[in-house]
Amino acid sequence: MFDLNICHLYPDLLNTYGDRGNILALQKRAQWHGINTTVQNVTIGDNFDASDYDIIFLGGGQDYEQEIIQKDVLEQKNTEIKNAIENMKVFLCICGGYQLMGKYYKTWDGKEIEFLGALDLWTVGGKERMIGNIVFESNFIMENGNPLKIVGFENHSGRTYLGENIRPLGKVLFGNGNNGTDGYEGAVYKNVYCSYSHGSLLPKNPMLTDHLLTLALKQKYTDFDALGKLDDTFENEARNTVIQRILK
Ligand code: GLN
Repeated sequence: MFDLNICHLYPDLLNTYGDRGNILALQKRAQWHGINTTVQNVTIGDNFDASDYDIIFLGGGQDYEQEIIQKDVLEQKNTEIKNAIENMKVFLCICGGYQLMGKYYKTWDGKEIEFLGALDLWTVGGKERMIGNIVFESNFIMENGNPLKIVGFENHSGRTYLGENIRPLGKVLFGNGNNGTDGYEGAVYKNVYCSYSHGSLLPKNPMLTDHLLTLALKQKYTDFDALGKLDDTFENEARNTVIQRILK
């Protein structure tokens, strides 16, 4: 029997637009695949040992919450997070949590907030927020041979730019994505997946959910081979219906 331990980092501060739904999706699909999960909440002041977990999740938060977290993440959890990333730990980071992984965030009113610098990216705020539905084409190839289109909802002032050592999660078909100009959305580095998509991201995108579970299981168990197939008709229909409405 396989087990996965999931960590929700700063659940009281980073959980915009029901981002916790990503954890529920991970748990539910794991259960359907016959895999046990536990979820541990870790917040400001809590001890954080990344080796206790197989998947680490950070949701979105506004500038205000990010500033509250900054001291704790930089002083208490910095090294653990960076080492875990380099050691191929699986992370999912949404919006504010995504920005937090980068080097800094220059807010729209000129404040420069130093962030972790765990990933080669940085964020600059703009006065006009990027709000609305987002559809992007990912590198995941579906059974029919087409790239998986992912749908979500974005609301951010920050424009994120990727450095050389990091690739985007997808190409924007509708909406703004990372910065509204280069046409890319999200970021992938080793086993760290970042996206601006709330919504939440995973329930409507089961292929991505299973990908994260698979990565985590492969890291933990040498005898793990692959997840079985589930019937995703409902999830795929939900996603496709929304995408068709947005792209029409
Ligand atoms: N504070 C960030 C911004 O506005 C993140 C917002 C969010 O997580 N929704 O850019």
